[in-house]
Amino acid sequence: MTSITQKADTSNPSLARVPITVAFGDGIGPSLMTATLRILEAAQAAITLEVIELGESVYLNGITSGIEQKSWDSLRRTGVLLKAPITTPQGGGYKSLNVTLRKALGLYANVRPCRAYAPYVPTLHPALDLVIIRENEEDLYAGIEHRQTREVVQCLKLITREGCEQIVRYAFEYARQHGRRKVTALSKDNIMKMTDGLFHRVFDEIGAQYSDLEREHQIIDIGTARVATHPERYDVIVTLNLYGDILSDVAAEVAGSVGLAGSANIGEKVAMFEAIHGSAPDLAEQDVANPSGLLQAAVLMLHHIGQGEVATRIQNAWLRTLEDGIHTADIAGERTRERVGTQGFADAVISRLGQVPLNLPAVENRSPQVPSASPAVVTSFPVMKQLVGTDVFFEWSEGDRDPQVLADTLKKVEQPDLTLRMITNRGVMVWPDGFPETRRADHWRCRFLGARPIEHLQVIELLRRINITGLDFIKTEHLYTFDGAPGYSLGQGQ
Ligand code: NAD
Repeated sequence: MTSITQKADTSNPSLARVPITVAFGDGIGPSLMTATLRILEAAQAAITLEVIELGESVYLNGITSGIEQKSWDSLRRTGVLLKAPITTPQGGGYKSLNVTLRKALGLYANVRPCRAYAPYVPTLHPALDLVIIRENEEDLYAGIEHRQTREVVQCLKLITREGCEQIVRYAFEYARQHGRRKVTALSKDNIMKMTDGLFHRVFDEIGAQYSDLEREHQIIDIGTARVATHPERYDVIVTLNLYGDILSDVAAEVAGSVGLAGSANIGEKVAMFEAIHGSAPDLAEQDVANPSGLLQAAVLMLHHIGQGEVATRIQNAWLRTLEDGIHTADIAGERTRERVGTQGFADAVISRLGQVPLNLPAVENRSPQVPSASPAVVTSFPVMKQLVGTDVFFEWSEGDRDPQVLADTLKKVEQPDLTLRMITNRGVMVWPDGFPETRRADHWRCRFLGARPIEHLQVIELLRRINITGLDFIKTEHLYTFDGAPGYSLGQGQ
């Protein structure tokens, strides 16, 4: 049920109260949120709360999205969500609420600062201090999946130029505003030359406009390995959705604990702030979880709503708490002087409000901590698009799956102006050249190309003729050129 809680008026009278939407979440969520809100109140954050329910209870009420209409209304009203982790029930067709929120609200940038707090929090990499900026709406997370044949399923990876421009520009703006020196892009464009290649190209184009910042690109696999072994080499990292998802957990663990990091999800109209970890059902209702991740998210939120001074006070008290050795179990080590629970940790931070750390660098009020949105994106598209052929996909498993047999059938129905040029199986060329060792699934891509641009009607005529052969064509993918350049990956012999 949506309710509006007016807090006792303890806030800083010089600040106008800002309404925010709050979700207490599941598992350890309610306890972490209580601890965090107690700290915000003690620090005189000027906020009013609209409390909404999200997650398990909503799912179990039969709402498969995990969020009710009235909660969307609250988010649109306030434009800010502070969210504790929620539990997604297993099975039952429940959709990931996080993915729904990010996509529905256009939260295109996921910002995750990661720092080591050595020697107070044990870590192998005391100099780690990096920020991961992850594209949040595109990539394999479109959730467009199909079972195409008896043996093969597919998931579409969708990347837009606009999405790349928005996230890359955001990363450079972030670096500039925060006095960072370098932006590293991570992708797999040696393999995915069109999707990841677009991201890399946009990174080079936009990066050239930020000559005050160093920039580099690395392949995601070696980049992830180096974040795990030499994280001090990195400053700001910008990457695509799936890579960023994996990498940010690697970085948080390397920094010390997933319990320490918060994240901001930034869109043009709404922003969402949360811890990076989940609802940890194994720790629920024991008062042992670390509230720091959600508190760090709240600090990012305070900067976002223009209360940088309050955020700075909380951050310095939190650093002093770590430094004084007041630790929850997940970060306990040699420097721990007192092991506390969730609420005890909040009490320790509250009692240090107004203090600054003595050894860790104190934070200065430098608002905004997170740029609220990218500057306008200028997208230029090629002008001339021409249809030049089509890839026809088949389910076929006759005989011993000899591609020559399939080619012979297709050669009989090709047209003079649209001819069969190659057949691949799981992306490997099997006709006209191929290796007998190549494993052949029941899923075949057959490329037909014209000698010159063609019409849609010619594709329809080709399919009509294929239909007569009885072959099961499962989909087509049209082949276009854009300003003369092929808009499709090339096989050998093209
Ligand atoms: P998790 O992050 O909840 O837990 C992973 C491990 O980290 C566990 O051992 C846990 O005890 C520990 N941990 C997590 N937070 C901690 C904290 N604050 N202090 C100390 N230790 C902490 O991941 P999981 O177990 O894979 O997922 C549990 C549930 O959370 C699932 O239902 C999942 O869908 C959900 N989830 C939600 C979010 C979110 O709401 N943003 C994110 C990830 C997972």
